[in-house]
Order: sequence, then C-alpha cells, then structure tokens
Amino acid sequence: MNSPREYSAGRRFMGRLSPGSDLLQSLQSFCRQRGIAVASFQLIGAVRSARIAFYDQRHKKYGELAIDRAMEIVSCSGNISLRDGQPFVHAHISLADEEGHSRGGHLLPGTIVFVAEVDVQELLGEALVRTPDQETGLPLWKIEP
Ligand code: ZN
Repeated sequence: MNSPREYSAGRRFMGRLSPGSDLLQSLQSFCRQRGIAVASFQLIGAVRSARIAFYDQRHKKYGELAIDRAMEIVSCSGNISLRDGQPFVHAHISLADEEGHSRGGHLLPGTIVFVAEVDVQELLGEALVRTPDQETGLPLWKIEP
C-alpha cells in the first residue's frame, strides 16, 4: 500500500433500504443527503434483480451482466469517496441463488432491492478524490506521497 491515508471514525449509520429501491442509487443519495464524503460500508439482504459488471483489463472496459431473478446478497461492501465533486459509491456484490451458487461483480445501477440492511462508517480526514488513471483506465484515488 503506497502512502495510505489515516482517517478517524465519524458517524456510523445502521439502516434499511426500501423494497423496490435501486441499491447503488439509494446508497449514493443517502451519502449526498448526509454530507458523507469518505466512508466504508457493508450490507446484506436480498435483491429482486441485479446488474453487475466485470472489468476487462485488456480492453479497459466493463462487460455487463443482468441477473433477472431474486438472489440473496451474501456480501456487498465498498467505499465512498469524491468523484467530480460529489460522493461516489464504489461497491462489489456477491449474490447466491437457492442452490447456493454464487455470482458477483462490480455493482451497477439497476440492482433492485428486496431488502437490505446497511452499515455505513463515515471516515473523517482528508478528501479522497477519484481521478482518471491512465494505466488502468479506471477512476482511481489520487494519493501522492
Ligand atoms: Zn469495482
């Protein structure tokens, strides 16, 4: 880890997302409403359907996958930082079907909540800002020594 930043714990929120809401957009609007600029989060629950992505490292673009059925959220975690001056949620999700088979990836808008219990830990310290990274093609944290 190069030049990690140190943060102290801010507010911690425990809450539930409404059935039928968009998982990613709900997290994003919660952070914007509460003025959360840096945070980590985790959640569990279930979805009615999901949209996830896999990053093709060679071609530097996301391939999307639609799962149009109910799945358990085995795990979903990620972080919040700033992108274009706004709180931006980066999340990955692991989902399982009734046989326990799992699928997962980078969470996209269009994942619809059945139920979700969310734990958000705000972090206090220097702003963490995403900027385009040439090497990976991804918007990464700009952290310099
Ligand atoms: Zn990702």
